[in-house]
Amino acid sequence: MTPCYCNSGLSFESCCEPFLLGDKTPETAEQLMRSRYSAYVEADVRYILKTTHPSKRKYYSAASIKKWATSSKWIRLEIIATEKGSATDDKGTVTFKAYYSNEHNQSIVHHEHSYFVKEKGIWYFLEGEVKEE
Ligand SMILES: [Zn+2]
Repeated sequence: MTPCYCNSGLSFESCCEPFLLGDKTPETAEQLMRSRYSAYVEADVRYILKTTHPSKRKYYSAASIKKWATSSKWIRLEIIATEKGSATDDKGTVTFKAYYSNEHNQSIVHHEHSYFVKEKGIWYFLEGEVKEE
């Protein structure tokens, strides 16, 4: 089994892969967060944009997502806290740390508080607040 990139302890096949393939839709904000991390590891730009709220997509470019995704060596994801974001909510926040090394081989901890919204049953990433380490 390939352990899922998101550090869930599950296999990739039974965790984030079905979301990336579009076979399943995340039920919780945390699942969406985890799958977006896995999408960065896989440099799946299409999934990153698809799961970004339509009103916010204009702030992201496929080229810059691809560059960040592929120039980084993704190490692990740590979920620090979640608030709401369950299958019965329509809003939620996830605080996480993503550990990676950048193109200069520097270790980076990306600490972010992310906001998610659910519309017509689909969770979207709305925006993130990056915390200083
Ligand atoms: Zn996963």
